[in-house]
Amino acid sequence: MVVAEMIYRVLGKTGLKVSVVGYGASPLGAEFGTIDPAEGKRAVDTAIAAGINYFDVAPYYGRTLAETRLGEFLEGKRKSVVLATKCARYDVKGFDFSQKRILASIDESLKRLRTDWVEVFQVHDVEYGTNKQVLEEAIPACQKVVKAGKARFVGITGYPVHNLKRLAEQAEIDTILTYCRYNLLDTAAEEVLVPLAKERKLGLINASPLHMRALTNTGVPEWHPAPGRVVEAAAKAAAHCKARGVDIADLAMQFVLANEAFATTLVGMSKVRHVESNVKVVGTKADPKLLAEIQEIVKPVMNVCWREGLPENDDPNAVDKRS
Ligand code: NAD
Repeated sequence: MVVAEMIYRVLGKTGLKVSVVGYGASPLGAEFGTIDPAEGKRAVDTAIAAGINYFDVAPYYGRTLAETRLGEFLEGKRKSVVLATKCARYDVKGFDFSQKRILASIDESLKRLRTDWVEVFQVHDVEYGTNKQVLEEAIPACQKVVKAGKARFVGITGYPVHNLKRLAEQAEIDTILTYCRYNLLDTAAEEVLVPLAKERKLGLINASPLHMRALTNTGVPEWHPAPGRVVEAAAKAAAHCKARGVDIADLAMQFVLANEAFATTLVGMSKVRHVESNVKVVGTKADPKLLAEIQEIVKPVMNVCWREGLPENDDPNAVDKRS
């Protein structure tokens, strides 16, 4: 394997030094189809050997399976990684932002993860809760978890960026994770979240740089929420890259990694070849001509986003899923 030198950035005021490519553990829970657990373990080992130190998981992924597997695969390696998990989301429509559930949730996660603490404890997909409950119950519960020594920092995660911003303005948190909002198809997180993150020294975590597979040669799965015109533009962009001898996933990674405002970018990687591909681009630059051509192709659908969560938390320009 070609091992590029890993680059590390500071995750805001947490002071944690995290690898620019982070390990997304959702596929370990067979979240997107069955996987070979032995291959998943090899992917985790390969990631650590390549210098990836940020690992993101949640009880929701595979309805606890991803945490269980990650806990097993990190056995004996816990101290060499920065571990982040979540609370409040337990199923597709199963949310519980109550204090009681969150205080129990951390203990269940720690048991599955075979550890006594996580570095980052996040309220998962905050747009599915009322801001009132997230601010008055969920975040204070996470702060209690920190006081109890079971987590070091508190974060929020979600899709609508304006809602994340509103919450971050009002709450004492350390990190914000957003997905599909900073990549070749959508840069809303840069406009909406980066200025606040800089001002408050919040760590920014960028998930789904491949726009949940839209920016790959495989294309999107059936459940993908993006409107048809976004999927079509992404497929056109992938074909254009292919014709130029470039894998669009490489270009997509180069594009996001170049932005230093995001400490780490999370990619789902249950396969060794995905780890290798995503690590090999670290420290390389996108071909500016090809990048400009791709940006021209996707221009008509840039920043098209979909409704996610409670209607009151939608971004102002959100459209129906798969519309
Ligand atoms: P993604 O869109 O970047 O990747 C999607 C899929 O592409 C992966 O699951 C994998 O199957 C495939 N892939 C990975 N590398 C590839 C490559 N080089 N070439 C071709 N295909 C490749 O990211 P994602 O999986 O949607 O998200 C990454 C992680 O971020 C998740 O595992 C999760 O940990 C986190 N996340 C969190 C939230 C949240 O908190 N609300 C939401 C989304 C993602």
